[in-house]
Amino acid sequence: MGEEKPPRARSSAPRGEEKREARLPVSFDQFAERLLDWYLKERRELPWRSNPDPYWVWLSEVMLQQTQVKAALPYFERFVQAYPTLRHLAQADVDEVLSRWSGLGYYSRARNLHRAARQVCRDHNGRFPRSYSEAVALPGIGRYTAGAVLSIAYGLAYPVVDGNVRRVMARFLCIEAELTSKSLERLWRLLEECVQAPAVQPRVSEFNQALMELGALVCTPRNPLCGRCPLADDCRGLAAGLAEELPRRSRRRKVEKFQYLVAVVADGPRYLLHQNHSETFLKGFWEFPRVDLGSAGQKEKLFRQQHGLVLVNPVPLWVVRHQITYRKMSFHPFKAELQGPLPGNGYAWAELNSPSHPVPAYVRKIERAALVGGPDSGVSRKDAKTQRVLK
Ligand code: SF4
Repeated sequence: MGEEKPPRARSSAPRGEEKREARLPVSFDQFAERLLDWYLKERRELPWRSNPDPYWVWLSEVMLQQTQVKAALPYFERFVQAYPTLRHLAQADVDEVLSRWSGLGYYSRARNLHRAARQVCRDHNGRFPRSYSEAVALPGIGRYTAGAVLSIAYGLAYPVVDGNVRRVMARFLCIEAELTSKSLERLWRLLEECVQAPAVQPRVSEFNQALMELGALVCTPRNPLCGRCPLADDCRGLAAGLAEELPRRSRRRKVEKFQYLVAVVADGPRYLLHQNHSETFLKGFWEFPRVDLGSAGQKEKLFRQQHGLVLVNPVPLWVVRHQITYRKMSFHPFKAELQGPLPGNGYAWAELNSPSHPVPAYVRKIERAALVGGPDSGVSRKDAKTQRVLK
């Protein structure tokens, strides 16, 4: 085990429930052996597996939160090409980092990664710390990420419980109740015991990855491939006929809908962009100027009132839809020309791939829509969709 242990929450679960959920139906050794045998044959070759450098492992874990491996891979490769070491990342400008992150979403992860890289260079000589308490003191690093980096990169006996592990364990143990912070805490403790078992400890890096990989490839959210699962013989969820139903879903945050009018003003390859100063959503990014569609009034007037922009000759484009977490957004873009000067600070002419003006993914989608045109362009909405221009 590493020098320190993560904090444990006290459990107030009824004794019977705790016993039922917190025991494996096989020994830790058997559990690990089956997983590891399977993993060595079936695992995917991934860059951070062939090179488990702490920086690479950390970056992959941050990118893979809410993103599938297939989608994250090209970002990972471009990122480490641009910033081969933590020091390169720490020295980079945050706008440039955000620009390279654009498309992955959850931009606070990129900001935290960048801040944490600077802290690691300042306080830990550019090397991700080996101590749990120092790791979780870094911005954006919690129990899961600390456990993943310390176990995978350094072989320290910390467990990991991500969405995949939760699902595998909820099914294997047949946890029928919705997973709560208490039942999750029991899962963490069970796996903590497991990774400290003498036969598992020396292979903790592979053990943790095996459990996550099983969730990603076999014990999938829908249609789990139980016939190919190394744990099937003792899986309580499978025996109870509940494999696909578990874990029980928690109530999700309600999706909210937003509609915006967006002005696309081009000057050769450059566009008129406005920096977002909102406190919570896409803060710091550059976007096409937009106003709420709910705002009453003629669109040219709205842009004059809210942005100080005098726009003429508006031509509508196809509507673009985009979702970020619980925000479902419809953008109603139109091309226009600008009369007069830019309003001042917070507005600029820039190309969309300019590192000094990072843009979120939806802006590129609108640009693609602008290239196809709109209702008057001769390209039908259906054709535009078929060309995968609009989502
Ligand atoms: S047997 Fe099926 S439900 Fe059980 S762990 Fe394996 S894939 Fe998941």
